[in-house]
Amino acid sequence: MLVSVFRNSTGAQSSPIMPGGGATPGTPSAKLKEKSMIRPKVVVALYNYKAIETGDLSLEKNAEYEVIDDSQEHWWKVRDNHGNTGFIPSNYVKEKELIGLQQYEWYVHDMSRQRSESLLKHEDKEGCFVVRNSSTKGLYTLSLYTKVPHPHVKHYHIKQNSRAEFYLSEKHCCSSIPDLINYHKHNSGGLASRLKTSPCDRPAPATAGLSHDKWEIDPHELMLHDELGSGQFGVVRRGKWRGSIDVAVKMMKEGTMSEDDFIEEAKVMTKLQHTNLVQLYGVCSKNRPIFIVTEYMRHGSLLNYLRKHEQSLSSNQGLLLDMCIQICKGMAYLERHNYIHRDLAARNCLVGSENIVKVADFGLARYVLDDQYTSSGGTKFPIKWAPPEVLNYTRFSSKSDIWAYGVLMWEVFTCGKMPYGRLKNTEVVERVQKGIILEKPKGCYKEVFDIMRKCWSPSPEQRPSFRNLKDQLVNVSQGILVD
Ligand code: AMP
Repeated sequence: MLVSVFRNSTGAQSSPIMPGGGATPGTPSAKLKEKSMIRPKVVVALYNYKAIETGDLSLEKNAEYEVIDDSQEHWWKVRDNHGNTGFIPSNYVKEKELIGLQQYEWYVHDMSRQRSESLLKHEDKEGCFVVRNSSTKGLYTLSLYTKVPHPHVKHYHIKQNSRAEFYLSEKHCCSSIPDLINYHKHNSGGLASRLKTSPCDRPAPATAGLSHDKWEIDPHELMLHDELGSGQFGVVRRGKWRGSIDVAVKMMKEGTMSEDDFIEEAKVMTKLQHTNLVQLYGVCSKNRPIFIVTEYMRHGSLLNYLRKHEQSLSSNQGLLLDMCIQICKGMAYLERHNYIHRDLAARNCLVGSENIVKVADFGLARYVLDDQYTSSGGTKFPIKWAPPEVLNYTRFSSKSDIWAYGVLMWEVFTCGKMPYGRLKNTEVVERVQKGIILEKPKGCYKEVFDIMRKCWSPSPEQRPSFRNLKDQLVNVSQGILVD
């Protein structure tokens, strides 16, 4: 369905405006007139995109495209300025009128203070900077790396005066943020350094599926590389699709899952898209074993990452809290879509470049055939992440995910310790039934532990939602850390 020509520039459905002497509403000539009067939606590419499948269209960063069909959420049909048409991932473009700062290399949107510090330290260039959304809504922060007197990152709030001008130092005010950045590119004007460069070649986000309406992947188009690890379902290998897109390929051990049901569900799962969820690209379902193809996450499982970097992470509570907030955002998206994870734990989250953390394997537990994993009495059942109603009645809900999330927060703040140590499953069940919970991790802020405890309320109704939890965590991070 071609809808966009009937939309106004803000994307809202337009009401036809009938000038004096116009055609009768609803007649073909009136419709033609409406079409010619209403401006088509124009979008700007935020990233380059290389079309691989026929029917898709390549995008060039900063170029403009006219939207022909935006009736599907993730893939829109657009026209470039040479008249070529095709599908593009909708998360790679932004409506021209709403683009704001997103067209600038230096703007990193809602990257946290901690992630901006990691990014700039990794770049290690004097005067390297980004502008990000401040944790106070509507405000922006400039994060700037300097080596003087020692390598560190300074954060400056971009303020506005009574004339609505922007400034970092009151002596130098500008009418827009880009003008202000431009000014400080030439004059340090009180900053620790002049603004010199910003991180380039930042990774583009994953697309919902590898192409428009595609979830079945031809295994011959996958080049398989080294093994990334192995889990409940079998071996996971790094790969490339059609020689250009990095993927992770999970080769499902035969007999471990009800494959037909999962393949049906995969069509829905490819459409779940969020910055903090590992993107499912599709499946190779024609051969056995079936392959599950997902976004590749370069630092692997969060659990291993926490254990490997314990020394540096344990002294950076802000970074740990930021990881929890990221996971909470991904879970809030699942909650909004009435999707239950059922096996949320640090081992099922992955870490990518720029310290991004994403939730993986959501909903997969439903298709496991192994009784030892699915029944709460089984040896592989994630008892230590399960609330009383799951232990007693196998009653899963977003609130049982919340309990597991509390345990996951505990794993993060202990840098990957095993919850309840060496206690046997039966002993853990006894404790949970008696209301005995995990202890506060060493060095963990009381405010953070209080949030974990709310997740472990015995009654599911008393536990917060992910949406609510996200706000609480952001408030705590504002209270105990500086933005
Ligand atoms: P799993 O079967 O999901 O438990 O995966 C087993 C291991 O493979 C994980 O612990 C990771 O180290 C690795 N792995 C799984 N998925 C990915 C991915 N998308 N990107 C990178 N590594 C992964």
